[in-house]
Amino acid sequence: MKGAETRGLRIAIVGAGVAGCAAAWYLNSDGVDVTLIEKSRGVSGRAATRGRGEVRFDHGANFFKLNDRAIRYVVQQVVPSKDLVQIEGEIVSFSAAAPTRTSKRDGQQALWTYRDGISRLGKLFVNHANVEVQTRSRVQSLRSRDNEWYLSIEAGVQFGPFDCVLLTPPAPQTVEILSASTGPGCTDLMDALRRVDYSSQFAFILGYERAWRLPEGVYGWINSDTDYPSAWLSREEAKPGHVPEGQRVVICQMQPWWTKQHFHDPVDSLVPEAAAYAARILGNEANSFDWYDHQRWRYARPQSRLSLMDARRGEAHGLFLAGDFLAEQAGVPEALHQGLEAARRIGRRFGIETAQLLSTGSV
Ligand SMILES: Cc1cc2nc3c(=O)[nH]c(=O)nc-3n(C[C@H](O)[C@H](O)[C@H](O)COP(=O)(O)OP(=O)(O)OC[C@H]3O[C@@H](n4cnc5c(N)ncnc54)[C@H](O)[C@@H]3O)c2cc1C
Repeated sequence: MKGAETRGLRIAIVGAGVAGCAAAWYLNSDGVDVTLIEKSRGVSGRAATRGRGEVRFDHGANFFKLNDRAIRYVVQQVVPSKDLVQIEGEIVSFSAAAPTRTSKRDGQQALWTYRDGISRLGKLFVNHANVEVQTRSRVQSLRSRDNEWYLSIEAGVQFGPFDCVLLTPPAPQTVEILSASTGPGCTDLMDALRRVDYSSQFAFILGYERAWRLPEGVYGWINSDTDYPSAWLSREEAKPGHVPEGQRVVICQMQPWWTKQHFHDPVDSLVPEAAAYAARILGNEANSFDWYDHQRWRYARPQSRLSLMDARRGEAHGLFLAGDFLAEQAGVPEALHQGLEAARRIGRRFGIETAQLLSTGSV
């Protein structure tokens, strides 16, 4: 790459979800000049948290697991936080045919979030890296000139030049960017990414000013056969620090098939229906919510995976990909892993030392 060896590498990362934030931290810790560009107001993407008065709730990913040794090391040792908390209670499952009959699941693992919400994870990486994030900046297209990349944002703003671009939005949003871009590798990557489908998912958040009775020791209810309209129900107060004493917050994530049927319907009409489905499992009190919130996740989870061979088609031209669409199973730890892996490949491609983690040999 022109001059990169002498003046230092400049990298643009598009998307500040967990994958993008982890990659930014990894590269920045080796002194690489990283520009992290995010279309929304905050960081952490689908690992998302909102607040309402003293209440905090995770309206995208609800928790993450720390089963993988390397991810556990990164979360607990590299970006440690006293606010990392284990969720109290178990997950039980139910079927559509007998929704009131729940059964315990075998081999339950510890579930984690942060006291102030799961979005803390993305923020921790950004803070540790001391990377400046360009928020409210939707990347519209890329352009290559003389082996360097330029990014166009809305309102005619441009970023660049960069030696390398790491794209981390969900596959369809990356396709949108690439379809408006010019440069080597763009068409190849776009053709490969087009094959990755995503499911959409409605999340409703129901708030109660009273903590009515729920079964002891249960945090979440999961529909095992995917035939019941609610895919997942959980009580946010099982997360330390999220809900003040005497209140209750229920998360209702709907099935992708139900979401598809109702995606464009007015939310006001959907909330009582979602509450009624929750009430069949949690009891009639669930119908009488005091407030609600919602999120329509258009690209909730990938339904297929992009092969690593396809994902690497752009690397020779300085175009890298990361995100949960590269993982065997979509999830926060998997996205984090993909972000770190992309950063490591960038490091290798440009011959930079990835000192921080390689020196520990942990990741
Ligand atoms: C409802 C729901 C529940 C889930 N539950 C769990 C769970 O309990 N546990 C779990 O582990 N996982 C869960 N997941 C999955 C998990 O949230 C994702 O796998 C993970 O967060 C993906 O991270 P990412 O960095 O790959 O992508 P994202 O988090 O999607 O990050 C991509 C970022 O790119 C930005 N972006 C998009 N387009 C542009 C553009 N043009 N310009 C600039 N920025 C752009 C987006 O705003 C976003 O911030 C859930 C997901 C959903 C939606």
